[in-house]
Amino acid sequence: MLIIVILLGFLIGSFLNVCICRLPYNQSIIIPSSHCSICGAHLKLWDLIPVISYLLLRGSCRYCKATFSSRYLLVEIITAILFSVCFQTYGLTCLFMKAIVLTAFLLIITFIDYDHQLILDKVLLWFSGAGIVINFLTNNLDFEDMLLSSLLGGGLLFIIALVSRGGMGDGDIKFAATLGIWLTWKCLLLVLLLSFVCGGIGGLLLVLFNFKSHKDFIPFGPCMALSAFVTMLYGSEIIIWYLEMLY
Ligand SMILES: [Zn+2]
Repeated sequence: MLIIVILLGFLIGSFLNVCICRLPYNQSIIIPSSHCSICGAHLKLWDLIPVISYLLLRGSCRYCKATFSSRYLLVEIITAILFSVCFQTYGLTCLFMKAIVLTAFLLIITFIDYDHQLILDKVLLWFSGAGIVINFLTNNLDFEDMLLSSLLGGGLLFIIALVSRGGMGDGDIKFAATLGIWLTWKCLLLVLLLSFVCGGIGGLLLVLFNFKSHKDFIPFGPCMALSAFVTMLYGSEIIIWYLEMLY
């Protein structure tokens, strides 16, 4: 079963690549079908087998030999790993379905925010809609839970944005409100807390390893996404551990 989950991860990861590349430019994620961005050749089915095609063609276009970014491979592999972690935690349950949908949206937001310092409204709208539908289908969170978490998440970041004067973008506030649809308010508080820890450490590492200079804006979206993933899986345990440590 794990093999099927990994393959599903590769396949969805390949679709996420399309979303990450095209959505910031307002391009459709369905048409045109995948093509080489250099020579324009339409890629055939056997050019599009996730991971395998990339490795067989050594990351280059079959037709013009232009090299594709290793990012495509990275996104496919990360998706497969995260899906496997969700499967190990939840098994084949409704919560697993919820977890992989959440993971897919988090990945799209992470990579677009990293590339463009932008969290797109249309992604958040789809993300919210999917959350409401899944909660409704799985009886996971009711309407009041979602409203409370969303207001708390959006509200807190709004206040931080006001106080820090521009340290936090509109997209981050809306992203926090959207996460409220997916997580309980306790988990959402944990997400925000972890995000600030992750932002501090992540920012430091990016500067240390020269991925970004200290003058660059370090996007907060990926920190929130990573924290949301960790909280989804281990939130209850972390909260219990934290409370036990206090008392
Ligand atoms: Zn080409």
